[in-house]
Amino acid sequence: MSQVVENTCHNCGASADASASTCEYCKNPINITNFSMVTNLDSETLQNYVSSYRKEIAKTPLDIKAANALCLCFTRLRMYDRAKSILDPVIQENPEAADLLFLRAVVALEGKKAFMAKRADINSAINYLDAANMFERNPIHYQLLAYIKADFFDRKGYKIEPSSDDDRDRAKELGISSLDISTLYELLNVQK
Ligand SMILES: [Zn+2]
Repeated sequence: MSQVVENTCHNCGASADASASTCEYCKNPINITNFSMVTNLDSETLQNYVSSYRKEIAKTPLDIKAANALCLCFTRLRMYDRAKSILDPVIQENPEAADLLFLRAVVALEGKKAFMAKRADINSAINYLDAANMFERNPIHYQLLAYIKADFFDRKGYKIEPSSDDDRDRAKELGISSLDISTLYELLNVQK
């Protein structure tokens, strides 16, 4: 007898087919897998996802997908300390989880322009992104490195290697899109 794999919408709790990505009932994503999914959600809906993913994390504290989803919501809600407290132990156990390393770099900036951030937070964001690139070379990682270096180092007249231009070139080589860039700035809570 074949088993029907069931999935539950993380917003409204309705059951859904395992292959479905959008909920039939609330028309929202069943699972949150990337930031573009949360950019247009209101805070009430984000809180529904938060409570649902918190329950998952309570059961499986080191689940990479649940941690990523929960912290995307926390980042959108600008609850950066909450995101850090979820991400840090999961990253410690899964140091190769590039998506979490990227998100941890974003959260290190706490929704402030890189120019306004502390040097220690800038260094930690760069370290997380360098680590993420060791496991998955992703244009978004390089675009964020380029932004941080341009806004912090270039604007203050400091030198850094590789430079912001080097990183921006790498992001282009790897096929960064203008949608990726606008999503990144929304994630950072920064006007371009
Ligand atoms: Zn739903």
